[in-house]
Amino acid sequence: MKTKTAILAIVAAFAWSGVAFGQDLGPRVQKLADGVYVHTGKGFDSNSGIILTQEGVVVIDTGQNPIESRDIMDTVKKFTSMPVRLVINTEPHGDHTTGHYVFSPPALVVAAAGGGESMRGAERAAPDRIQRLAATTPEMKTALEGYRFIPPQIEYHDTMTINLGGKTLELMYLPRVHSESDTAVWLPVERIVFSASAFVNNQINILRPFVTMPDILAAGKKLKALNPQHVVPGHGTPGGVEIFDKGEKYYALLLERVDKAMKEGKSLDDIQKEVKMPEYASWGSQDRMPTNIDAAYRMLGGKK
Ligand SMILES: [Zn+2]
Repeated sequence: MKTKTAILAIVAAFAWSGVAFGQDLGPRVQKLADGVYVHTGKGFDSNSGIILTQEGVVVIDTGQNPIESRDIMDTVKKFTSMPVRLVINTEPHGDHTTGHYVFSPPALVVAAAGGGESMRGAERAAPDRIQRLAATTPEMKTALEGYRFIPPQIEYHDTMTINLGGKTLELMYLPRVHSESDTAVWLPVERIVFSASAFVNNQINILRPFVTMPDILAAGKKLKALNPQHVVPGHGTPGGVEIFDKGEKYYALLLERVDKAMKEGKSLDDIQKEVKMPEYASWGSQDRMPTNIDAAYRMLGGKK
């Protein structure tokens, strides 16, 4: 009788969490806390979050491309038969949002204000984007079957709290750090932050003309002050607050070098050619360095 009760308790525990026995999640899915997983991108491909609640699933970003989106959905199905209720965008770019159609409907897509407009702008700028993506490989073409353009159905300003099935998610708009609509997602109970692309790990970020270095540094300070146990950047290996520390150190050194060159009376063009960051030669996306120098130049009051 005692044994039977114990077995029932074990079965009940697994039924409650929705986790099947003997599941193989593969090397790219990491458990961060009970019900909180990260589906890591290949190389510097975008990371996604999977949050299991008692009332369905929340997915944070839908993967680098539709093949990844379907892999994320397959991972969700290994955990639970419950539907994905919400998709949260940390940014509106295609490498985080093209796969919305894999989840929505029934999922509703949530983004910071401006996310939908940014996505519509990208559609207008490249109307053949999906056709070209489908032409890349047969697998991509298959993954794109049923594609529909789905901008966020819900947009929020500044902050938003979601309480769903026993999980709390606090969404924070991060202005001018990467895209027109960047959102960090903070799980205060599990102390996990999905930090969007304000900081990426071991990679040079692209700093667009509307992005400012003071805003990036302020975002880093704000997210670090949460004292997170895990940090999941938009791109690059998840880790801890050292991701913010490394980024801050990199920007401080860049600012120092750009400042020196400006004081020598050099033009932005020359500075972009001359300033080097050999300490960070191992970071990915070195071709983005000129955008970083441009942002440093603007922060230091350089005129264009
Ligand atoms: Zn992006």
